[in-house]
Amino acid sequence: MKAYLLLSLALLISCTTVKKTDAQPGNQLLKDVEILSSDAYEGRKTGTKGAEMARTYLSSRFSESGIKVLESLQGYEQAFTFINGSETINGKNLLGYIQGTTDSIIVISAHYDHIGIINNEIYNGADDNASGVAGLLKIAAHFSKQKPNYTLLFAAFDAEEMGLRGAKAFLINPPVVLSKIKLNVNMDMISHNDKGELYACGTFKYPELKKYFHTSSPNVKVLFGHDDPKLGHDDWTNQSDQGAFNEKNIPFIYFGVEDHKDYHKTSDEFKNINTAFFIDAAQSILEIVINIDKKRDIKSLSDEKRRMIK
Ligand SMILES: [Zn+2]
Repeated sequence: MKAYLLLSLALLISCTTVKKTDAQPGNQLLKDVEILSSDAYEGRKTGTKGAEMARTYLSSRFSESGIKVLESLQGYEQAFTFINGSETINGKNLLGYIQGTTDSIIVISAHYDHIGIINNEIYNGADDNASGVAGLLKIAAHFSKQKPNYTLLFAAFDAEEMGLRGAKAFLINPPVVLSKIKLNVNMDMISHNDKGELYACGTFKYPELKKYFHTSSPNVKVLFGHDDPKLGHDDWTNQSDQGAFNEKNIPFIYFGVEDHKDYHKTSDEFKNINTAFFIDAAQSILEIVINIDKKRDIKSLSDEKRRMIK
């Protein structure tokens, strides 16, 4: 009972300061993960009620974060259909943009779907990938106040867990001119690593991208790797949505952690992420995107690379 009273008092105190702390980006970041990975969202499996709830939440967060509806779409949603085994499944990406000073585009992406309910147990997918979506919203919130040079297209992809289906649908039926997309920055699992290590994958194929990697965050070591084809299964190039961009020879940076004890388990819950690591990981990714945006030289890089690949 005493503990209960103390807790009530603590809650009361924290409620009175909620306005101030809410303004801190770290807090909103955690709040987004906590909500999206709560049981009410039932693991956000593509085509389920939980996925629809996630879209409702994310649509309002897109709008709050200054993300605008694309001219070629009616709202944020891009619907697509695919066959999975014997089932026809309807997926929906959420897309929007922040206009830059140029029409060259960087796609900032993270998948919001997860694997749902299996044997009556909810797979909440806090790290995989509520964390990446929260990171995406943090980047949007920054650039809604500081106009970017590149036009930033924000993509919360559906059906990644069923084989990058949302990202593939986006690239088959792009809502913008494909050749304008200069880079994909994808986030998938950025909140859970006991060693403080975040991998940036993509610089093996595009070493020129390394020059943008200077960050200020103490709790994160950003490492290059997991992108050499010789690594076999440890090459992550095609293991999340950036793989669909890579297929089109669009340069990419994928941010993610190595698999951990809660990966694709019911224990991938909000309480098990590393909050200090996560806040700094999201900050580091934002800083790298800011560095890229300031330089404005991705255009020549990708055009040259695409010529070489042809
Ligand atoms: Zn994932």
